[in-house]
This record gives sequence, C-alpha cells and structure tokens, in this order.
Amino acid sequence: MIAVVHHPDYVTEAPARSTYRWGKNGAIRDLLRAEGGRIDWHEPAAMPQAWLEAVHDPDYVAQVLSAQVPREKERRTGFPITPLVARRAAVVPGGTYLAALLALDRGFAANTAGGSHHALSDTGAGYCVFNDLAIAAHRLVEEGRVERVAIVDCDVHQGDGTAALCAGHPQIATYSIHAAKNFPARKAQSTLDVALADGVGDDEYLETLERTLSSFLDAHRPDLILYQGGVDPFAGDRLGRLALSEDGLVQRERLVARLATARALPLACTVGGGYGDDIMAIAARHVRVILTLGEMLTGSYVAAAEQNGGASVVAE
Ligand SMILES: [Zn+2]
Repeated sequence: MIAVVHHPDYVTEAPARSTYRWGKNGAIRDLLRAEGGRIDWHEPAAMPQAWLEAVHDPDYVAQVLSAQVPREKERRTGFPITPLVARRAAVVPGGTYLAALLALDRGFAANTAGGSHHALSDTGAGYCVFNDLAIAAHRLVEEGRVERVAIVDCDVHQGDGTAALCAGHPQIATYSIHAAKNFPARKAQSTLDVALADGVGDDEYLETLERTLSSFLDAHRPDLILYQGGVDPFAGDRLGRLALSEDGLVQRERLVARLATARALPLACTVGGGYGDDIMAIAARHVRVILTLGEMLTGSYVAAAEQNGGASVVAE
C-alpha cells in the first residue's frame, strides 16, 4: 500500500481576489480515492507554532495565524490570507513532516499538498504561505530523526524560498532544477542549482537530471529526500517554459526513484506546481507522480536496510 497524507483543510474554497486556481487538492484526493485499497491514508496534525517560527519570522507567523497579513504580502503571495487559508497553511507543513516520518518507516509517503518552495522568512510569495519543505527539514534534523536531509526540487520554478531558509545549515542540502528564465526573477542560491534554457525537452532534461542529481546525492549523502514533484515542467503548463511530455514526467519519477533506491534512500513527496485550466488533467499528473514513486519506492528502502543490516548503509 502507498502511504498518502491528506487533511480535509487542504481542500478550501478560493478566497476572493485569488489569482491561484484552487480545487487541485480536492481533485488529487478524489483520484487517489478511486485507487481504492492501494492507498493507505493518514491525517496530519497542524505544525506547532514553534516549528513554524524555527524557519519563519515570528511576526509573519503571527500575521498568518491571525489572518492579518498586510495587503502587500498578500499580493506577493497571490491570494488573501483568510482564516481558512491560515488553517490550511499550518496543516500543510504538518503533512509534509508526517509524510517524512512515514517515508522513514516504509520508504515512501506522499503529502497531497505542499511543496511551497517560494515562501520566505517574513512573507509568502508565488502562491506559497509557509515553506513546508524547509520547516519539515529543520524539525527532522533538530529532533534527530535524520542526520542529513536533501530537499530535491524538480518544479519548473526555482526553489528560492527553500534555498534561502536552508542556506548554511550543515545538515540540509538543497537541489533545484528549473527553467532559468522563469519566476522568480532574482534567484536564490541552492546548494546545487541546475538552470535550464527555455524549451528543454525529455531527453536533455532526463540526462541533465540524472547526471546532476546523482552527483548531488553522492556529495551530500542524505538519509532522506524531501521531494518537490511539481508537474509544471510539462510542455502544456501555463507557467512552465520547458517542454516535457506526459511520458517524460513519468520517466522523471522513475529516474528519481531509481537514484533513491540505489542509495537506499527513503523519499517523501510533496505536490508543487501545475497550472492551467484543466484541473483534472493537472491533478492526474500529480497523482501519476505519487503512484509512480510509490510503486517503486514503497518497501524498497526497508528491504535494502535489512539487507545491509542498517538503515544508514549506502548501497553503491
Ligand atoms: Zn512551479
């Protein structure tokens, strides 16, 4: 069974003045429900305020949780922070954290939201309120659940918030492969950035990903991957600038799973970006990410760890 983390609060109505298309998370949930007994559902708790504050400015955290975010920050985020949006913002990082714990136990788990990689210390940005990836990574290492964690971001946009919030942390390494000319205009510095030219298609993308991600994982030797599996590198995406096919995206997931399995690495997956008018087609792409990784990774880490006599042994 594939472990999936979901919370009813992920699915909210679009607030007024939102430029973001809501409803994706509900469609992802429905498509996964249709998979029946293959899915093992888990519900997260909200991320405690202290852990939000471990990464974000406490004043910004207070503004969000009380739904009193200044208009300028709301504009930068892309929607107003209503009480419903605030509740969702606190529970999504709880989901990414829970997915990580489940992945450490079973090899793989997916959060049906998250991947909010643009959120910065004192403001939201680019449809992201709190940076669930950075929050979960900090909590996991602070609690001693892992020695080192890698955040691997394959969204078409650079993981600038994640890079900024994890910069200099000796136990967290960040990888971002993205379209160089896409949002954000001013890039942050990840541990490893791979910037691609407009229009890159399947072959060049997969070759570049394999080469750079392999060497990144070998250099940093994480105990866990937090994965941002945005589907916006897809050719038809409204906000992408790359040209991956549907099959290219599936190949991407197979490649990421293969690189993780070869190193006996558990992986927790978050949703990330995917934009356009056809919400069901986008949700189906996100669900294919979850199912492709889940099929290949569930149990594999546990099997490899048992074979090696310990979870931290790296299979070469
Ligand atoms: Zn994106």
